[in-house]
Amino acid sequence: MQTLVVDHPLVAHKLTAMRDARTDSPAFRRLSDELVTLLAYEATRRIRVEQVRVSTPIGQADGVRLAKPVPLVVPVLRAGLGMLDGMARLLPQADVGFVGLARDEETLVASTYATRLPADLTGREAFVLDPMLATGGTLQTVIAMLVSRGAAAVTAICLLAAPEGVAKLAEAFREDRPVPVRVVTAAMDRGLDERGYIVPGLGDAGDRLFGAV
Ligand code: URA
Repeated sequence: MQTLVVDHPLVAHKLTAMRDARTDSPAFRRLSDELVTLLAYEATRRIRVEQVRVSTPIGQADGVRLAKPVPLVVPVLRAGLGMLDGMARLLPQADVGFVGLARDEETLVASTYATRLPADLTGREAFVLDPMLATGGTLQTVIAMLVSRGAAAVTAICLLAAPEGVAKLAEAFREDRPVPVRVVTAAMDRGLDERGYIVPGLGDAGDRLFGAV
């Protein structure tokens, strides 16, 4: 597995504002939207394209367009929903699937409560949206689901990552495996606290996006 921590002053600026406990939900959602678009720009750097020739008003131009089959974007419910608009803005042609996972707050083990994915992902690139790569349990489950359905490559876009979660994914999806797996994130934080929260992190991403329900 490859990990890319995006080093860009605008990414750091937006992430810092999101970390600030005084940032309210409307501002947090807007920042998440903007930050995802910046991360998605890096995450799609090697997206598959095919050569095309178009007629301009003046002549012929050689260029590229997104290759078929189109990529699949998978927000992980609930917090990943706060990343979907920012991703769709950059990649409006992509299809969207959904996976819902809930974390048991005591065992920190995630269980699946909803899945809406194509049965066959052969040859398709998948982009998973999950703001917090903490223990890595949720992402490991979702990435394994996509790989087992035939995805050609899987990129997880996370606002924040903890070394524990990255290590778990790196062990599960080693570089010698046929399907490349990548994590693209705005920052790698210090680690996890005893409740599995990222430190210093930004708190509960779902609550900060949508309120504590
Ligand atoms: N999920 C969150 O929302 N925040 C964390 O810090 C860890 C997991």
